[in-house]
Amino acid sequence: MPLRLFHRRYTLPFRAPVRTAHGVWVERIGLVVRLQDEGGRVGHGEVAPIPWFGTETVEEAEAALGVLGEWVTPEQLAAVPAELGCLRFALVAALAEFGKDERINTDAPPYLPVAALLPAGRAVLAQIAPKAELGFRTFKWKVGVGDLADELSLLDDVIAELPSGSKLRLDANGAWDRRQAEKWLDRAAERPIEFIEQPCFAQASEGAALVRRTEDVLRGLAGSFPTPIALDESLVGSGDVERWLAADWRGVFVIKPALLGDPVPVMARLATAKADVVFSSALETAVGAKPALGLAFAWTGKPRALGFGVWPLFNESVFDGPFGAPFIRSEDVKRLNPEAVWIALN
Ligand code: MG
Repeated sequence: MPLRLFHRRYTLPFRAPVRTAHGVWVERIGLVVRLQDEGGRVGHGEVAPIPWFGTETVEEAEAALGVLGEWVTPEQLAAVPAELGCLRFALVAALAEFGKDERINTDAPPYLPVAALLPAGRAVLAQIAPKAELGFRTFKWKVGVGDLADELSLLDDVIAELPSGSKLRLDANGAWDRRQAEKWLDRAAERPIEFIEQPCFAQASEGAALVRRTEDVLRGLAGSFPTPIALDESLVGSGDVERWLAADWRGVFVIKPALLGDPVPVMARLATAKADVVFSSALETAVGAKPALGLAFAWTGKPRALGFGVWPLFNESVFDGPFGAPFIRSEDVKRLNPEAVWIALN
């Protein structure tokens, strides 16, 4: 039975520009897809690539939707190639929403903790107490943005601001070389650092040899220091997850479901391997957030605070996922309304 496939491109400015080691990100560009069956039931999905991760581009996803055309079968949707991981994720989510595919389980614990996002640089210090007051106990600080010595010298001030029993994760977005990463890992060793996310990274476009060397550095660092290392930029899609699982990576896997293609087999592999997983946002709208958080709630492995403390993210709240409280409730995930986003994009 054919399904009707619609899509809309969006450009949504962030309420505040997002500053990372890759520069400043001011607006989210993506696609919302909508499937409709003969009975009038609808399902939605979001294509939310991350420019510097090496996912497909919005243009590539849009071109593939053009080739699929207006009437599609589930078989055609399943044949979208794995390289278009963001588009595949959107299509699987859309099918799941109207019951063509029941594999995504949203029966779940009532709530999950969320990590508070802290800004890079000295601005971090003023942000901790108000977030602690709200109830956050896991904090994530962006590092690798300013001068290394300046940031390192701030670390103990940051830790001193944390409420007792808190955890601090550091995210370098791949900004360091091996020596810089060693300095940080050395400093982290006897401090309450939950993990260091992506200390080093090389993009595929920088050449296979450099990517291999950088991955060797990551493995070397993981074997030499007690603080766990988390892979984020290293995991662009399901193929990368499979590769690091096959290489028996014992650090943390930061999983951005939006990039994973069909997430169900990947999540099953991670579960079988008893992998250490953190679920994380791709700065998507409520459309992509709903299935992404659904996976987080379905995960039965070791719980770690969600990397979904990103909303409110957009100027218009209809596009936001559940707000950045210290917990996200499964009720609030179920209540997210993709059709309202679709209408708002009209
Ligand atoms: Mg990260």
